[in-house]
Formats: sequence, structure tokens, C-alpha cells
Amino acid sequence: MTQTPKKNTLEQMFAELVINIEAPLEGTFHYHVPSDLRPKLRVGHLVEVEFGRRLAQGIILRFDDTAPIEETKPIIALIDEKPVVFWWQIELAEWLSQNYLAPLNACLRLMLPPGLTRWADVTVDINPYWDGNGRLTPLQQQIISILRERGDLRGRQLQRALRKTSDGSKKKIDWKTAVNQLTKRQILRKATVLDPPRIRPKQIRTAELIASEARVKAVVPKLGRANKQADVLLYLLNSDDPLPEETAVLEATGAKETHLKQLEQDGRINRTPAQTTILPTGKEPPPELTDWFTQLPSPQANLTIHNSSFTIHYLETEGFIQRLHEPATLSLAIPPKQLLGHILDLRRATTYHHILTLLARAAQPVSLTEIYAQTKATINHLRKLAKLDLIRFGSEEVWRDPLADRDFVPAEAPMLTTDQARVWGRIKVAILTAEEVMEQGEEEFAVAAPKPILLHGVTGSGKTEIYMRAIANALDEGQQAIVLVPEIALTPQTVRRFAARFPGRVAVLHSRLTDGERYDTWRRARQGLFDIVVGPRSALFTPLPNLGVIVLDEEHDPSYKQTPPVPPPYYHTREAAIALSQIIGATVIMGSATPDIVTYHRAQSGRFQLLELQKRVMGHRQRLEGQAERLQLRNHYQHDGEDPDDALTIPLPPIQIVDLRQELRAGNRSIFSRALEKAITETLERGEQAILFLNRRGSATFVICRDCGYVATCPRCELPLTYHRRNMMLVCHHCGRREPHQTECPTCQSKRIRYFGLGTEEVAERVQQRWPEARITRWDRDTTAGRNTHETLLASFINQEADILVGTQMIAKGLDLPFVTLVGVISADVSLGLPDYRTGERAFQILAQVAGRAGRGLLGGRVIIQTYKPEHYAIQAAAEHDFASFYIDEIRFRTQHSLPPFRRMARLLLIDPIDERGKREAEALAKGLRLHIREKALAASEILGPVPPFFNRVDGRFRWQIIVRSPDPNRLLADFPIPPKWMVDIDPVSTL
Ligand code: ADP
Ligand code: ZN
Ligand code: ZN
Repeated sequence: MTQTPKKNTLEQMFAELVINIEAPLEGTFHYHVPSDLRPKLRVGHLVEVEFGRRLAQGIILRFDDTAPIEETKPIIALIDEKPVVFWWQIELAEWLSQNYLAPLNACLRLMLPPGLTRWADVTVDINPYWDGNGRLTPLQQQIISILRERGDLRGRQLQRALRKTSDGSKKKIDWKTAVNQLTKRQILRKATVLDPPRIRPKQIRTAELIASEARVKAVVPKLGRANKQADVLLYLLNSDDPLPEETAVLEATGAKETHLKQLEQDGRINRTPAQTTILPTGKEPPPELTDWFTQLPSPQANLTIHNSSFTIHYLETEGFIQRLHEPATLSLAIPPKQLLGHILDLRRATTYHHILTLLARAAQPVSLTEIYAQTKATINHLRKLAKLDLIRFGSEEVWRDPLADRDFVPAEAPMLTTDQARVWGRIKVAILTAEEVMEQGEEEFAVAAPKPILLHGVTGSGKTEIYMRAIANALDEGQQAIVLVPEIALTPQTVRRFAARFPGRVAVLHSRLTDGERYDTWRRARQGLFDIVVGPRSALFTPLPNLGVIVLDEEHDPSYKQTPPVPPPYYHTREAAIALSQIIGATVIMGSATPDIVTYHRAQSGRFQLLELQKRVMGHRQRLEGQAERLQLRNHYQHDGEDPDDALTIPLPPIQIVDLRQELRAGNRSIFSRALEKAITETLERGEQAILFLNRRGSATFVICRDCGYVATCPRCELPLTYHRRNMMLVCHHCGRREPHQTECPTCQSKRIRYFGLGTEEVAERVQQRWPEARITRWDRDTTAGRNTHETLLASFINQEADILVGTQMIAKGLDLPFVTLVGVISADVSLGLPDYRTGERAFQILAQVAGRAGRGLLGGRVIIQTYKPEHYAIQAAAEHDFASFYIDEIRFRTQHSLPPFRRMARLLLIDPIDERGKREAEALAKGLRLHIREKALAASEILGPVPPFFNRVDGRFRWQIIVRSPDPNRLLADFPIPPKWMVDIDPVSTL
């Protein structure tokens, strides 16, 4: 392609673009800049160009005097006035492209919201200089008249308007061509724009009670449909007279006799009909009637006079008796307490009442969805209540935290503990020193970033508090911050703490956002509408104009690496964050209780600044006291003398290791050791909760001797061999070694040597069999597949709707489950049995994390780990909460086998529906690479494989992989042509 470069003349200027299309595209492309666009275009602008035969979007990386090719096409239009990427994002993309051998356009696309193309639109208006002449097609005429009437329009608005006038026919209207023709004839003017963001990110609608209890009480009985019977009941309820007259009631309520009859029939009221009572006056009665007079007083209806010479009328006129006319009266036949229910029934207004009760109980805004779910409410019910000023509508961000009203989060920064203060002091010095270096720098753009900081401290040692200090510090300087967490759904409390400490300044990027919401967040970031973004790895690419701090919490988490088969680049967020910090001079703070071995090694060798927090802060005093009160527990945590009042410290929970071989010897074949079984039973008896943990890859199949714990390993790689059912072979997935299946243990000759594997479903079943009364929740990939389920499962467990949680996914940070007093690890060996060099590290991290779940509540807690390999250093170290000793053992293993950090790796992965073909191609590539190494005389580099990886068949397609082990895999691979269907994963986090 290199031809005589075209020289820049005054009227020529070139822009180097990356084309923003889905397909991976190596390299950049030159276009020339038409003179009318020249004053407008900037680096980072999104422009429209012709690419091949079609229109595409390009992003300007830089301007150039020359172009490497003879014929350049022009840039057609500028799509948005504001650059879509910052200069430093371009540099970061270039860094990613070089370091992960990925196409530049794929790297740059990380910085853009998904489907940016979709948000581009045109605005159209009539050229004011048009003389109104010219022949127009009917469609063109229609467009002109719409624009005349409504002024300039967006493409989408125009389309809608045309649809409306085209008598509802569904036929596609080709308005675009029509507009283009009219633009060419200079009848219309057209400009491209990006949609502005909606004002706010997606919100959930809420309702909240705003009326006083008294007012609710007064209004409720009047809600619903008009109903005379209900009116009567209400009248009776409020009447001062316990026996009001019927006529008065009928008059006041407008009810009819029939209503009263119905009420009486339904047993709701008693009616006393009108009657006349006869009273004696005291005058001596006629002797014939002496007996009769003894009945008085009595209702006239009950009386008859047997002596025919006397009548009532006579007796009255003669003054013997007096007649008293009593009107008909009403009284309630039901207790007043139940009355409201009857009134609501009659008015069909129970729903209103339910809504109001729900809201009164919540005492805070409740989402409409929840109201709908818990009552029979419709929007009309709510509107009515709002109209009566009983409730108020509102909205909250979609992000929902299952702990929202259950746990106290200190919004104010607490006073730091002595430990924290020391760490924070060191960080501050690092930041200030870097700033000074920068100020002394001669160059205009010189930046100096502090050394990346590794904050090593057990779960709950107060790392998050340090992150927040660093962020507050950056905000004071007018800078922004990115907080990276492994998964939002698993870190609800962490997220909420940031939101509480920095109200209104935090945006949360979670996996449930739609493309539209992502686009909005992206636009809002560019406009500086928020200062802190919390999210998983992709949050690193949020376009914050003046980024000051990047926090990487749980730095060791494998989810920070983008891994095949999703599209490239296969970047590691940690490395990208460090690269970015060096481009712009930001501070990177990585935190973990169990740092990645490579990270820790770097910190030890001085490339990172290592800061340690040793003590576990049990929590903010206010929070613990709140918890104690709510749960009616006694708070037995003390704060130690030297630290401020607010921080209470606690020891880590005790961990018991159970040797499963011993269990077998004692005749226990159950998956529960005697110790675990007893502990579960006790926990259930006390009404507390337990978590049973099982490694995510529970279906792993490796060969283990159930008597001595021997695991079949590859003699060369010291990694477990995998049993392949199909051909009954043991295979090393690292180097490809094959061995026949063993039927007898080589160390103890036991015949009880078999492959091992257990899933959550099976464990849950066994738990149910053993403890039939226990309520069990299963938490794994299958049960959390749908929307929301992480939160719902978690919430139900927190609400004590289950006693035992059986799971593969550990609830990550900061979460306190006050009633969880037991954490059991069913088998620690499942992770150790996997054929990957990181299994020891992973096992240690998982066990340490699992242990971190217990003993955070006021009730304390303990951990039981079951294993066939109690002597394994990862298990030993985890049991002692001893990262240092684990590190020493692990780094020795890594040295011996030339594994990272002593050598780097690259994994080349091929996925092919035809196993044989994949194998052939893999063999050819491996051969080529070996030759390449020899030719270039690359020392200490080697090619392993090809082998089928551990997960060798996924979705019915076969996988083949080649592992490159080299001090610099990039150098080795950069100038070697790798067929595009191979996925190149530099520094893979797993080779499974
Ligand atoms: P980590 O991030 O290391 O897991 P956190 O920062 O979450 O630790 O701290 C653990 C708990 O201790 C949290 O509930 C937090 O609010 C509380 N906490 C941390 N530092 C302090 C402090 N200085 N004063 C009071 N409470 C604190
Ligand atoms: Zn091997
Ligand atoms: Zn054995």
C-alpha cells in the first residue's frame, strides 16, 4: 500500500480515521477534509464517510499533512459538534490495541455506547433561499408542506409525521431518499446530530404516603363508589346518638328504606321499628283492669284488653294511661372495629385501603411495581389517592438495593482509625508528590501519576472508607472518579455507600441497563453531569472530562479480564486502568483481601506501593447498634482503646478444617462430615442461618483417591489430570499428556479412586433429605439467570425466608447477614482439582472470601471447610487467614514451573464445529509458531499444545488451544500472522 505519499498543499489536509463498524478492522484510514469542514473538525469527532461502498461512521484520531495513499475520499459530514472520545481515550485505545493484539476499532468501540449509530439522526429544514420553484414528487411535496407547517424537524419526527398523513398504510416511506434529493437541489438543508440524552436516567416510579394518620382515617371511608348502605354505616359510626332515628338517618344520607332492609338482612344493623308505648299515669285504674295494668309499661302492640267496655282511647282520654310514640331507630350490629371493612367492601374500596396501609407501613417511597404486586391496585387507584393529596408520586433511580432499609450506611465520613489514618496519609503524600513533579515539568502536557497503590486488607478492614477519602479529595480538586467492582448485583452495599456519601453525584452502571440508558449515561458523563461512576469493568471507559482517581475493588477478581469468546480486546481492567492513569496522571488504588499473586509480586518488587490494613473493623458503631436493636440482640463488640469511637473491631471467624478421608475411614459416606452435620443441626435449632458453599465449577471431574486424597496429576505440569468419560483416559489439559484411567491408587493401592464432582442441585437435595424441615435457597448461575433474581434471592434470604443458602456464587463485599452463623464449604478440592495453574490461588481466594462471610453479624460465626487435601498449602493458609504464607508457597510453585509472574502467557483459542479440522489448524499454527521462535531466537519462549482445553466442548463446538509461554508474548506474536478466527488472549486469567 505504501505509495508516494501525497504532499500536503494548502488546500489539502487529511484526517486519520478509525471506522466504527461492528466487524474487526485493523488499522486506520485517511480521508481528506473538505475546506468547509476544516475549521470545524477536531480530534475525537464522529464523522460520516464512505467506506467501501457504504456510508459509515469514522472517528478522527489525528490530522495529517500527508496521506499514505494516492486517492483519498472526502469526509462527508460532521455528526456531532462535540467530540465523541477524548484524546486520552484514543491513546488508551491504541494502548489496548497494541498490548492485546486487537483491532483498533474494537478497542475504540469500548469507549462508545453500544449502537452509537442508532442515535444519530438528521435535522431537516427548508433552505430560506429557495425560490419555491421546481417540480416535486408527491412525497417531496408532502415533506415540504410538513416542514412549512412545523419548522425544522428531526428525521424521526418527519418520519412520524409522514406516517400520520399517509392514511395509516404500513408501507415503508422512503423519506431519506426524498430528503437527499431535495438537499442536493438545495431546496432543503440537512445536518447530522446525535440525539440529546433524556434528562435523567431511567427511573422507577414510586408513590409515598403524605397524609397524616388522622386524615387518612377520615378520608378512607369515603373512598370508592357511591353507596347508600355505606353512607348509612358511616353515619352510624359518627353519630353521637347511639340510637338515631331512622327518618333522621334517611334524611341525612339520602338512603331509602330498601337500603336499610338490605343492611338489616346482611346483619350489619339492627332496626327498631317505630312503636307506641303505654305508660300508667298513676291514677287509680278501674278495678276491672287492675291485672291488665300490671303489664305496663308496654308497647301498645303487645296489649289487648279483654274487657270490651274499655278501649285504649277511653283510658287515655280519662287520664289512666299515657301514650308515648317512639320513632323507628337504628343501631350497629357489628363492632365498630370491623365497620371500616364493611364500608370499604360496600364501596369496593378495599384496594385503596390496602395501598394506604402498605404505604403507611413502608414509611418511604415504594415502587409502583411493588404496589401493583402486593395489592390489586391500578394506576387509577393511585391517581385518585394522589388527587386527594393522600399520596405523592415520585421516582427513584432504577438501581435497587435489597438492603436499602435494613442496614445503616454512614453518610458522613467517620473519623479514620489509626490504621486507616496511616494509610490515607501515605496515599495523600503520593498524590501531592506526583502533582509537584507535574508542576515542575517543562512540557505542557507532562503528567505524572503516583505509583499505583495496592491496598491489602482483609474484608472489613476499612478499605472502602479509604477509597471514599481519595474520591472526596479528587472531587475537591474538581476531578472525577471511577470505582470498579466485580459485579454490581453482588456488591449492593458498597454501591449504596458511595451513593450515600456522595449524593447526586454517582452514576451506577449495571448489567441491566438498556442500550438507551447506557447512551444516556455516556452523554451525561461527557456533559459533566455526574462525578463518580460505579460499575464493572466497562465503567473504566466512561468519558469523564477530568478523571482523578480510579478505584479497583477486589482487584484479584477474574471478571476484570475480558475473556473469549466475547469479542476482543481481551483486556485486563487492572492493566488498562494503570495505563490510563499514566496517560492522564490519575491515581489508581487497587484493593483486595487476597491480592492477585502477580499484583502482589509487583507490589513487593516496588512497582506498586503496598499499603496494608491489618485489623478488621467490625463496623460503624451506629450501624451495629441499629442492628442489635432491630434484631433484639446484644451487641458484644467492643472498640479498642486507640481508635475513634465509631469503629468497633473484631477478630476473624474461626475456621475448622475437616479431613474427609477420616470421615470415610469412620464409615461416613455422606457429603456432610460429622462436624458439619452437627453444626448445621445446631444452627437450625437456634433459628439461625447457614451458607453452604460449593465451587462454581462443581461438575469438574478430576480423579481423587477417597482414602488418601491422592489426586492424579501430570508429572510434568503438576496439574491435575482430567478424566474423560468418552475414551476413559486421563488427560493433561496443559501439555496434552494422556494416561490410562487408574483403577487403583498408586500411593495407597485403594480401589476407591474415582472422579469427583458435585453440583448445587445435588447438594440442595441432600440437605433437604437430611433436614426435611429446613427451607433451602439455591443460588447459582441457573437460579439467577433471569432479571432481578440476584436481588430477589438475596432479599428473601436476608428476610429469613430460608434457613440454608446453597450456592456457588459468593455474595461479595460489605454484606452483613446478621443471622448467618455458619459457613460450610462442601469440598474445597473442587477448585484445586482443576487443571489450571491458578487453581491454588483461586482456591485460596475463594476460601478466604467465604470465610469473610461468616462472623460479620452480632451473633458471631464459624467456618467449616471439608477437604480431601487438608495439607494443601492453599487450604492451610486460608484456615489461618494467612495470605503471607500462602504467597510464599505459591510464588515458589510459580518459580519452579516458569509461570506468571516469572513468565507471561498467551492463550490462542480456536472454536470450530468440526473437531478434526480444528485440531489440524491448531497443529499447523503451533508448528508455525515453533519455527518462528527458532528463527527469531526468542529465549525462554515456548509453545505448549495444541490441546483441547478443559472445557473442550462448549455449545456443541470444539475448542483447541495453544499456550505461549514467554517473557514477552506480544513481541513473539506481534509480527506473526495469526489467522483471524483465532482468539488471542494475552495474560489469560484461566486456561480452562
Ligand atoms: P472493606 O472495604 O475493607 O471491606 P469497609 O470500608 O467496608 O471495609 O469497612 C467495614 C465496616 O466498617 C463498614 O461497615 C464501615 O462502615 C465500617 N468502618 C470502616 N472504617 C470506619 C471508621 N473509621 N469508623 C467507623 N466505621 C468504619
Ligand atoms: Zn502436563
Ligand atoms: Zn490412595
